[in-house]
Amino acid sequence: MDKTYRDLLDHINTLEIIDTHEHLPSNERDRDKDTDIIKEYLSHYFDRDLVSAGLAKDDRQRIIEEKLTIMEKWKIVEPYWEVSRFTGYGRALGIAAQELYGIDKIDGATIEELNNKFLETLKPGYFKKVLKDRCKIATSLLNVETLDKDYNPKDERSIYCDRDLYSPVYAISDLVYPDLWAKIEKVEKQSGIRITSFDRWLEAAEVLIDKAYKMGAVALKNPLAYQRTLKYERVSRSRAEEEFNNIFDTKHIPDWEERIAENGKAFQDYMAHYILDIANKKNLVLQIHTGIQEGNGNILSNSNPELLSNLFLQYPDVTFDIFHISYPYQNELTVLAKNYPNVYIDMCWAHIVSPNASVASLLEWIDTVPLNKISAFGGDYLFIDGVYGHLQLAKKNVAKALSIKVGEGLFDIDKAKEVSRMFFYDNPKEIFKLKIEV
Ligand SMILES: [Zn+2]
Repeated sequence: MDKTYRDLLDHINTLEIIDTHEHLPSNERDRDKDTDIIKEYLSHYFDRDLVSAGLAKDDRQRIIEEKLTIMEKWKIVEPYWEVSRFTGYGRALGIAAQELYGIDKIDGATIEELNNKFLETLKPGYFKKVLKDRCKIATSLLNVETLDKDYNPKDERSIYCDRDLYSPVYAISDLVYPDLWAKIEKVEKQSGIRITSFDRWLEAAEVLIDKAYKMGAVALKNPLAYQRTLKYERVSRSRAEEEFNNIFDTKHIPDWEERIAENGKAFQDYMAHYILDIANKKNLVLQIHTGIQEGNGNILSNSNPELLSNLFLQYPDVTFDIFHISYPYQNELTVLAKNYPNVYIDMCWAHIVSPNASVASLLEWIDTVPLNKISAFGGDYLFIDGVYGHLQLAKKNVAKALSIKVGEGLFDIDKAKEVSRMFFYDNPKEIFKLKIEV
């Protein structure tokens, strides 16, 4: 089996990859240059393992915000890094250090050399080198929050992204969950519609979705399982309108205060259905966050994909691309993907959340779900080296699962190679109707 595994991994390394989900800077020039390897590597994910292991949240902030030497930072994180280095998050960083910088282990003896090599990558051209030359990624689907050319590169990704690297996906959070007046004003600016009533809000939603697609969006994205339940009920228009009207109660608050726009669940539910109705008429793809929420703490059960069943049934012409294998609800997702023609499994983020669950799930899906329903890779990273480390883990996990099936005699290695190409390239190309040629 070891030989089968190695042969398969060699084959997977020759493949072009479609990366279904990223949060990288829209353009390489937007990358934070006032940084070091610890600040960048702890900008998300692995820092949460360190906090879980006991790193004080204040110390985590100091690493991001204060001008400490790299060795001072290492000393703060060292005990927590040691106990976390074998998690998927830790392993992705270890692989990046080894294969991008030639450093075998991230520790006190190597951190200075590693950081010096890392600082060299702040020169232009590194994104292309990693994503294209090293990873052979044909395109990465980039989560974008704005259709504006004048975006804030620190905390937004824009549809004006580098199209040699990315295909944009438009996040609909502002339209379903506009909890601040700043977001309503953003919708006004980008749609060209003044929000004076619920009717104008619905009109703006339609205009923005149309605009995103005209500008090259390949899918919509709903990330709201961080804020609320995935259960979107059917509510009457009048209830939604009544709740929406509450936002006008705070319009007078002076602009030096953060003006909260109170929106209720009925309004959010109505908007989600309204947008799905648009997506259904146009046969669009909707990417949905399900399962584990990034960060320390949240309500996990809000993210159970089973809560989406009514939407799968009621919008049969929408393609639902379900994120993160719904971990730890991957068994629920298995049945949903098996039973609904419009539900697809997306392994973005999954291989670093749990390499073990990723392999086990692939074994389960090969036994239960048609092969065309699985996309194997989405980096889901804010920083470039993470994408590389994650992709190597994803390749290993797919090679491992397929080699086990070859060992069981389910299919031969040629078929396994074909399946690996479906998972990493053909399936996402088909699901997102991507017009790319290799
Ligand atoms: Zn994401």
